[in-house]
Amino acid sequence: MDRSEDDGRPLLLLDVDGPLNPYRAKPHRRPEGYLTHRVKPASWISRHPGTPAAYVKPLRLWLNPGHGPALLALPFRLVWCTTWMDEANEWIAPQIGLPRLPYVPWPRMHHGDPDDLHWKTRYLVEWAAGRPFAWVDDEIGPQDTAWIAANHPAPATTLLVDHRHGLRPDDFTALADWADSLAAGTR
Ligand SMILES: [Mg+2]
Repeated sequence: MDRSEDDGRPLLLLDVDGPLNPYRAKPHRRPEGYLTHRVKPASWISRHPGTPAAYVKPLRLWLNPGHGPALLALPFRLVWCTTWMDEANEWIAPQIGLPRLPYVPWPRMHHGDPDDLHWKTRYLVEWAAGRPFAWVDDEIGPQDTAWIAANHPAPATTLLVDHRHGLRPDDFTALADWADSLAAGTR
């Protein structure tokens, strides 16, 4: 992301699977407010080596069309923070009413960490480069939150989302309250 675009708002580093796609909800009970999408992004097809693309079973997504407007109403700059990377702009954003967003590019994914941090944690702190941020994900552990507090030189918060439910109204309230406190200088 071009730093000249910084406008003082904190970053909202947004995961897809869990917060937007509650993939651990009961498989035959779509959560209320969500719509079903069946998609075949290139990264999904590549996980089925030897199977022609036309025969790869689509990936099922549940997405809530209310989430885009609710996210855009928050006083944050939205950034994808997901293994989907730029594919989120093709397969997720249009379904929920979001524009193209910048994304955190991962040099590696799903690797182990000597301090048991999530594989995203060190990268996203480096990428944020001293800018305030909220990280929204379904896999954040207390060790990640503590490491960020100790190693990120600006305010940051983590929001653990239940991957059975996705983002809920209380999550949006918590994010707005945090941004408000940051803007008021009380954070
Ligand atoms: Mg996730």
